[in-house]
Amino acid sequence: MSEERLNLQKGIIYGPVKSRRLGYSLGINISPEEIKLCSLNCAYCQYSWTGLLTKDGESFRKILPTADEVKKSLTSFAKKANKEKQHIDFLTFSGNGEPTLHPEFSRIVDYVLKISEVFESKPKIACLSNSTTLDKKEIFESLQKIDEPIMKLDAGNEKTFRLLNRPASKIDYEGIVANLVRFNGNLTIQTLFVEGEIDNTKEFELESYVQKLKLIKPKLIQIYSLDRPPAYKRIEKVSQKKLNQIKQFLIRELNLNVVVY
Ligand code: SF4
Repeated sequence: MSEERLNLQKGIIYGPVKSRRLGYSLGINISPEEIKLCSLNCAYCQYSWTGLLTKDGESFRKILPTADEVKKSLTSFAKKANKEKQHIDFLTFSGNGEPTLHPEFSRIVDYVLKISEVFESKPKIACLSNSTTLDKKEIFESLQKIDEPIMKLDAGNEKTFRLLNRPASKIDYEGIVANLVRFNGNLTIQTLFVEGEIDNTKEFELESYVQKLKLIKPKLIQIYSLDRPPAYKRIEKVSQKKLNQIKQFLIRELNLNVVVY
C-alpha cells in the first residue's frame, strides 16, 4: 500500500494513467479543483474526507467546469494525442468526487461521446460512480449511453452502508439497489473491502451482499481493498489471500465474473 494519500486532481483532463482495470485511461475530472464534492463520505476515501457532502451539485455550479470548458479541454487533448500517436483505451469520468453531481453531466456525456470519435485510438468511455444519483432520470439515461458504467456497492445492508459510505441526506440504500437492478446487468459493480472497526468481509455481511448481487446480476464484479491511507484510521487493508477467498465465495454463490484488483 502506498504511504501517501492521493492529492486532488488539478484541471479537467489528467493522465493518461496506466490503470489495472482500464488500460491507458484518460481521466476526466468534472468536480471542483480545490475540494472534493461528493454525495458520500467513504471511510476509506483516498482523497480524505469529503469537503462538500451533498446530493445537490447545482448549488456548486460556480466552482465546477462548464460543459463547454470540458469540451474544449478534451478536444485539444485529442488533437495532441493524435499528433503524438498516443494510445488511449478509455476516457474515464473520475476525479475529485462524484461526477454525476455535475448539473450538466448529461450534456458532458454527449460531448465526450462525440469527441471520443476524434481520437485515432477510438477509446471507450467509462464512468466511476457511487450509484447515489440514479434516481435522476437524465443521469440514469446518460450512464446507459457509455461503454462501462462502473458502479459502487460496498455493503449488502443499510447499516454497513451508513457506517462505511456515510451518505449525504436523502440517500436511500434500498433505492440505490433498486436502481442498480434497472441496468439489466449491463454494468460493473465495484466493491472495496475493509476490516477493522468497520468490516464488510464478515460472513453475514457477505451473505447480504450476495443477496443484492443476485438481484443486480452485473456482468462483472471488481473487488479490491485499500491502496492508500484511508480517511478513517480505524480501518485496515484486506489481504490478497482473503480477497481471493471472497472471490471464490462470490463465484460459487453467483456464477458471475469476479476480478480481484
Ligand atoms: S464515493 Fe468515491 S470520491 Fe466519494 S467519498 Fe467515496 S471513495 Fe471518495
